[in-house]
Amino acid sequence: MNQPKAETLKYLAHPLPMLINGQWVAGSDGKTFDVENPATGEVIAQVCEGTEADIDAAVEAAEAAFKSSDWCRMATAQRTRLLLKLADLIEANGELFAELDVLSMGKPIAEARVWDGPLSADILRYQAGWATKIHGKSSTPTLPDMRGEGAFSVPYHSYSVRQPIGVCGIIIPWNAPLIMAVGKLAPALAAGCTVVLKPAEDSPLSPLKLGELIKEAGIPDGVVNIVPGFGARVGAALARHPKVRKISFTGSTKVGKEIIRVASEDMKRLTLELGGKAPLIVFSDANVDAAIQAAAGAIFTNCGQNCFTGSRLYLQRNIADQVIEGLVAAARGIKVGPGMDDTTEVGPLVNAKQLQRVAGFFSDTDGIEVLHGGNVMSGDGHFFEPSIVFETAATTRFSAEEIFGPVLTVKTFDTTEEAVELANNTRYGLSAGLFTNNLSLAHQMAAEIDAGAIWVNGYPVPDLNQPFGGFKESGWGRENGEF
Ligand code: ADP
Repeated sequence: MNQPKAETLKYLAHPLPMLINGQWVAGSDGKTFDVENPATGEVIAQVCEGTEADIDAAVEAAEAAFKSSDWCRMATAQRTRLLLKLADLIEANGELFAELDVLSMGKPIAEARVWDGPLSADILRYQAGWATKIHGKSSTPTLPDMRGEGAFSVPYHSYSVRQPIGVCGIIIPWNAPLIMAVGKLAPALAAGCTVVLKPAEDSPLSPLKLGELIKEAGIPDGVVNIVPGFGARVGAALARHPKVRKISFTGSTKVGKEIIRVASEDMKRLTLELGGKAPLIVFSDANVDAAIQAAAGAIFTNCGQNCFTGSRLYLQRNIADQVIEGLVAAARGIKVGPGMDDTTEVGPLVNAKQLQRVAGFFSDTDGIEVLHGGNVMSGDGHFFEPSIVFETAATTRFSAEEIFGPVLTVKTFDTTEEAVELANNTRYGLSAGLFTNNLSLAHQMAAEIDAGAIWVNGYPVPDLNQPFGGFKESGWGRENGEF
């Protein structure tokens, strides 16, 4: 297994401070909190813990930076250049970022190397281009002059502008620390907003390192402030702060609803990307091998800890046995281990609480048959077996709740109508996957399934150009692209 590089250990050797108004500072009450490696349970870093007073200082700094002309009135081509420079710096620090994410939240380093760093740089480059392309419209008069001749008869033209909204509060989860931080910062910065970022308590390391590169790229002080700490304290203080004009949040539906309540006080704008319980539907005409491979990736990538994880698999009856056999073989062959091992395919769950939660599903197996897995693995880390269950009851917690772990629930169907009903029988609606070679059927299903993103014959990551966001309790608003 790889040991962390000297550069990573050096970065983690001292408590990591927070970034407020361009300065690296300790929290106002001087406390720190521990960050644990989920593969070993060892404390790998200490991080300064934010307080309400720190949020207040960060918001004040962001507001002052917004009011000064340095950022929001900077020539947009210059904003683009700074964001492109930040993308280059992320790329140059790819291995360090990969190690920080792996050590704090457990994902396999092979995955972090090819996805998290490179995708974050791509997101920045994509969004940097928008800085120069956000504009309003001018129009010729639509209304006739009804007031006749004289002083009130004024020829006019009209125009709209698109303005940055002001200070944005960004609250992110732990499952993809760098991508989440960059994915929300990049569009806010491209638009000319200033931000206060609250990383997740489990994985604040790469978002804080990002702060160093933001300074190095030459983004002015106060434009990006980063306050690590606990959700119920600093997250809530940010969501409630009267000078914050918008909150962009990715996380659980439960906390999303709490943020709606708090932010409604002063009617902050909200973008909420919440839970998911994505259905994958395999029709009998599909390429079965490709469907098996995609379904295994959809559930086991990042240990099932993505909002768009494909956790419900619906199989047309005559191909069900073949797909199940292939998936069980795939699950059996997966190498579960510490993320720092180059050959690991599935890492641990993020923390002990999450391990207990996932294991808890298996304490009541009424209505399901366990086809593979279902157990906590021995050792110090928070490892859970890649698991596949067949649902025999009409519905169970396995198909109804977001598990956020490597647990796939399988069921069969006969007709297309049945498949649509099963897919839509959920309070969520973030994403879905379809496997069929029948073009008309694919389009029909895509129209009938309630999900913000639907993939056909594959299950990749959301495309940067297309809107991403949920139906129903998967959230409000859309991210990516011009959205
Ligand atoms: P997850 O289960 O993915 O960790 P959470 O919704 O619990 O999702 O957390 C996502 C983010 O929201 C984290 O940064 C967390 O600290 C923050 N958070 C948790 N509770 C609150 C809250 N009441 N108000 C604002 N942010 C919160």
